[in-house]
Amino acid sequence: MPTSVSSQPRQELDNLLEEAGDVVFRLNQIGQLLFASQRAIARIGGSAPLAGSALAKLVADGDQAALAAALAEVSESRAPKLVEVRIKTVDIEIWHELRISAYNNANGALELLVVGRDMTMQHATEERLRHMATHDGLTELPNRLLLSDRMRMVIANARRSGQGFSVATVGLDGFKKVNDGLGHPIGDAMLRMAAQRLRKTLRDSDTLARVGGDEFVAILPGTATEAQIKLVTGRLIATLQSPFEIENHTIYVGASVGVSVYPQHAEDEIRLLALADAAMSRAKETGKARAVVYNPSLAGPPQHDISLEAAMFQAVREGEFQLYYQPIVDAQTREIQGFETLMRWKHPTLGMVPPARFIPIAETNGLINLLGAWALKAACVQLKQFEEVAKRSLYISVNISPRQFRNDKFLDVLDDAIAFSGLLGEQLVLEITEGTLMIDPVHAESILSKMAERNARIAIDDFGTGYSSLAYLKRFPISVLKIDRTFIRDLPGSQKDGAICNAVLDLAKHLNLSVVAEGVETEEQLLYLEQRGCQYIQGYLTGKPMPANVALAALKESIHANVVPAELRQVAQ
Ligand code: C2E
Ligand code: CA
Ligand code: CA
Repeated sequence: MPTSVSSQPRQELDNLLEEAGDVVFRLNQIGQLLFASQRAIARIGGSAPLAGSALAKLVADGDQAALAAALAEVSESRAPKLVEVRIKTVDIEIWHELRISAYNNANGALELLVVGRDMTMQHATEERLRHMATHDGLTELPNRLLLSDRMRMVIANARRSGQGFSVATVGLDGFKKVNDGLGHPIGDAMLRMAAQRLRKTLRDSDTLARVGGDEFVAILPGTATEAQIKLVTGRLIATLQSPFEIENHTIYVGASVGVSVYPQHAEDEIRLLALADAAMSRAKETGKARAVVYNPSLAGPPQHDISLEAAMFQAVREGEFQLYYQPIVDAQTREIQGFETLMRWKHPTLGMVPPARFIPIAETNGLINLLGAWALKAACVQLKQFEEVAKRSLYISVNISPRQFRNDKFLDVLDDAIAFSGLLGEQLVLEITEGTLMIDPVHAESILSKMAERNARIAIDDFGTGYSSLAYLKRFPISVLKIDRTFIRDLPGSQKDGAICNAVLDLAKHLNLSVVAEGVETEEQLLYLEQRGCQYIQGYLTGKPMPANVALAALKESIHANVVPAELRQVAQ
């Protein structure tokens, strides 16, 4: 039997489409299946061809209307559209993101192409990000952020009901000795046990959060009288007094507790916490292992600090901080090799606050440790998702501020991010400035060698603007130099900047370092750098900093461009 003229290319097209997504369908104009990829058939659990049945039958009842609307819209407008629906598989319904586009087949009839991606991993990632943004990784207790959220709820309830509550800050006495004397693993095990013991003394309606190395905060709704406070704080102290048995060590620590009461002492979250903290400091100063309830004769922390902290914590609590990702591309092929993570603060009234304004504040009040740890972990998890879409290995570059770098917990934060995300150490680049290295070179040397043990690479950010001697390039295990934007801006016109860039590229070649040119905005700059052997480019020309979903779409487009045949590529744009 002669094959029809169009069936051969059609068959090839369908073969190509097999790989374009987790499920792929072709539909006629009324939404009936003309083709389903093998993976789609396997997923749905059918063995027989599905031709002729409606795509709507394969999706969950609750999503059929959305699907029908999207199909109709694409047929009408011819513009591609994304829709998320649950596809009914053999045993469960699985969320898929469907990209629907329209094209004309060889006979001129309208057909729809539906390429679907399994969203299970993305949803799980989102859930994990949400959890990790609100919980302490070590004890699994709520962190400062979730505490802040709960405080707001409890304050709102108390306002409505007129019933007071108290806030207790619990600080372990002598924890530093345990950590320094017996090592971090034992210190960590002790903290986990302490967290469990404290949690057990409280009611389900109480919140217990870990807010610092050895500091916890309990919100105690309905506990407002002196007698009630005494009872609860007595239990908190007692539970930590019995010894901790860990790996053949018998460890004695105690706890000092500070309490503030709503509404007597304060009516807002930040002040309640600050006053409980001040009371705890007094408990520590006056003999430890005791509870002190705030009273106005105790000096509170200065008002100025409170309002600064308030602005930052408010932003964290409201989820106003986000991560943007800026592509770092190969200068020759322009293929994305990795991303630099850049933090953004979207303030509801001030708008976008530039990091140059808020990072220094976070450095001063220490919030950078929390924000930086979050950024590192979230970026690593995000990279996994980028790779899943790009279907190749990428790397992530994260800025580390001087205070983070000096923090004793930094290596733990790093290990946690690597272990949690499952990235390989070598996929991580940590950007530090020359200044960070020079504050305490001896400490820097030891930290950097530990980072090198984990295969994480070190990049010198803003290279050329900081330190005058280059001897440190030999001393420290550095892998990447990032040429500062100010040397790129006036290229190719500026002879001086050209000379500097050439010198850096030369130096890097001899020391076997990679170079990223930052702030590349024009084709001329890119060409100039590429011709002089610069391998990597980062700048508005090849991609501005963008939210994760936009970066994902960019990566996805590059995949589609490779897989979807030219005939469909036009409609897929
Ligand atoms: P940086 O690490 O040197 O980041 C590069 C800056 O250059 C970013 O500014 C980026 O948006 C900007 N940029 C990139 N390409 C171009 C271009 O072609 N033209 C121009 N004019 N600018 C370009 P951004 O995002 O405002 O960040 C400023 C600084 O804030 C960063 O400088 C970094 O030092 C700090 N920062 C940002 N995010 C973080 C973070 O998560 N942690 C820490 N510690 N610092 C961060
Ligand atoms: Ca940087
Ligand atoms: Ca830089």
